[in-house]
Amino acid sequence: MSSSQRVRLTSTVSGGSGSHGESDFFNERVLLLVFESIKWDVQSLCCTAAVCRRLRAMAKRLLWRELCLFRAPRITESLSNGVHSSRMGGGWPALAKLLFFCGACESTRNFVLSRSKPGHFVTESRFSKTSGKSFLMKRCRGDLLFVSDPCEHRLGDREDDLGVFRGVFRGFRESRTRACLIARQVALEERERCPYCGARVWSMTAAGLVPKNAAKRLGSHDGALEYFVCVNGHLHGTCWLAPLSSDDEDANEHDDDDMKWMAVMIMEIAQVVGSPMSIMMILQLLMGLVTMVLMVSHLESGSSTFFMVWACRASRPFVLL
Ligand SMILES: [Zn+2]
Ligand SMILES: [Zn+2]
Repeated sequence: MSSSQRVRLTSTVSGGSGSHGESDFFNERVLLLVFESIKWDVQSLCCTAAVCRRLRAMAKRLLWRELCLFRAPRITESLSNGVHSSRMGGGWPALAKLLFFCGACESTRNFVLSRSKPGHFVTESRFSKTSGKSFLMKRCRGDLLFVSDPCEHRLGDREDDLGVFRGVFRGFRESRTRACLIARQVALEERERCPYCGARVWSMTAAGLVPKNAAKRLGSHDGALEYFVCVNGHLHGTCWLAPLSSDDEDANEHDDDDMKWMAVMIMEIAQVVGSPMSIMMILQLLMGLVTMVLMVSHLESGSSTFFMVWACRASRPFVLL
């Protein structure tokens, strides 16, 4: 095809859009329609933005925002307060990456890995502001934070699974969490950077701002997690995922059952005896029994729960008589 034919074809197809010397390739409306037709495929947009500086700038200004609105409308509406033209902390490309990319993980000061794991695209993730509340200290609960479910990464047969999670604050610059970090004069990390916008980060673990509920929410052991928040309000972290049927959980369940059973028994005694003084005496007897059981449990670790249940149940008929 000659150059004159090519020019004629371009002007025919574009219907005059090339009046500013712009080919269809750079026409915003055309690009929007193309991406809409492929349901805003993330990897296609990555490839498009990598073609040249003009497309990269267009993606940064428009396309990444449209992708967020199409693929994750609720969280995007909430983060932008319904104003789509608003600036996003850290930029729209960073938000798009956070929504659809599980970051790579490497050892950090407080979380040591036997080997690093690469990041990967995710087709969809569940972000929740209810989960986000579990990552906020009590005095910072007024902040709005979305956190994803942990993405499970298998490391080896002898190790727990690694959980990788991410999140984002709305209006981080005005948040109580940021005010708290500033007030405590928490230093920014030297080596760690935000995997989404490249900005510097605070370690919430080092700052002592990790609530106990965070581990519970992730299904991790208390203390077996670390996460960071960048100056633009992106959160990324790692945790060890506890096996679902661990011995600890079973033991806790038994302990809970024991406590419930004790409470029921005391109520029954109170109904039969009726006198406050007698109830106090019985409670003292029970406390003595529990102390004895705990002492035995130190000698015979592992059988304490069983022995405690047996001892309490064995004493029940005598008390009720
Ligand atoms: Zn992952
Ligand atoms: Zn960031």
